[in-house]
Amino acid sequence: MTVDLGALAGNWEALAGRADRAATAAVVKGDGYGIGLEPAAQALAEAGCQTFFVALPEEGFRLRDAVRDAIIYVLDGLLPGTADEIADAKLRPVLGSWAEIEEWVEFRNAGGVGTAAIHVDTGMNRLGLTPTEARRLAQTPELLEAIAPDLLMSHLAVADTPDHPLNRKQLAAFRAVRALLPDIPASLANSAGIHLGFDYHFDLVRPGIALYGGASIEGASPMRPVVTVEARILQVRDVRPGETVGYGATETARQATRVAILAAGYADGYHRLAGSSDRRAGARAFLHGRHAPLIGRVSMDLIAIDVSAIPGAERGDWVEMIGPNVPVDEVAHHAGTIGYELLTGLGRRYARTYIGGNAS
Ligand SMILES: *Cc1c(COP(=O)(O)O)cnc(C)c1O
Repeated sequence: MTVDLGALAGNWEALAGRADRAATAAVVKGDGYGIGLEPAAQALAEAGCQTFFVALPEEGFRLRDAVRDAIIYVLDGLLPGTADEIADAKLRPVLGSWAEIEEWVEFRNAGGVGTAAIHVDTGMNRLGLTPTEARRLAQTPELLEAIAPDLLMSHLAVADTPDHPLNRKQLAAFRAVRALLPDIPASLANSAGIHLGFDYHFDLVRPGIALYGGASIEGASPMRPVVTVEARILQVRDVRPGETVGYGATETARQATRVAILAAGYADGYHRLAGSSDRRAGARAFLHGRHAPLIGRVSMDLIAIDVSAIPGAERGDWVEMIGPNVPVDEVAHHAGTIGYELLTGLGRRYARTYIGGNAS
């Protein structure tokens, strides 16, 4: 697995350029979408990123050691009794329920130091205060003062579908909340939200997947690929017409076929459903300048590809499974999932090489 930190930084700069009236943060939850939290954050910080979002406090603690001066928000907010440790690491919880507001206020009123974000739900029904609760907050200045909020945020449910009416509905709801709490910097857009236009940018945008080269909206990603995953050929074998390849005997060779067996599988986070059968084509790999389709099921540690059209393929060759020639979203599509899941699921077994970074 090769991670191109130069491409990561370049993607951040491209997004920051697109959202030039707002500041651009980086979402690095899920171990930096699978590429490694610390190297990702350090490369982004060097590119100029000052604000980061993680999901869990534990991710925040690791991130604090990697980027000492950055602003770090914890999207999952507070669980009972966690305000102290979060604030001690100078992390900022994203308060997304009235219970969290009460706990944070209790912590601050007892002398605790720190600021927090307020998350208001505008139609996703996942985390966030209801607009009614936000109104109640706006009408209680002493409560607001006790919270010390430095960010007002909401999250878009369908930004990947620009024409979906829920986008405009959420935008209108967020503007209404913002009008009640005008003094707090505001943030609404994820990667796809940035493409919805300036109306959606407010003071801070929060891209995740686009930084890592994944598609945030339908179609091919315009971002630079960051992750390349390669596996080596263990052996090349001839399969006769009528014989099958792999578990379940799901794919039958229609003609004499040369098959290369690769040392990678679903234990490496390569989805089993990206395999192929007689009824359904699977994902593709890339070697010697050409694509080679998967043949049969993906095993735990092995994948078979059809190299009949690639005479030079031989034992020991490296084969690209995901990368510039095999977009992560293409593999994800064949597995019935999204690039996000594939990236964050890339296993621990890879030898990881980071290129293009100054930190290394
Ligand atoms: C994950 C997440 C993001 C980033 O979303 P992408 O689609 O990866 O850009 C932004 N905001 C919140 C609240 C998130 O949970």
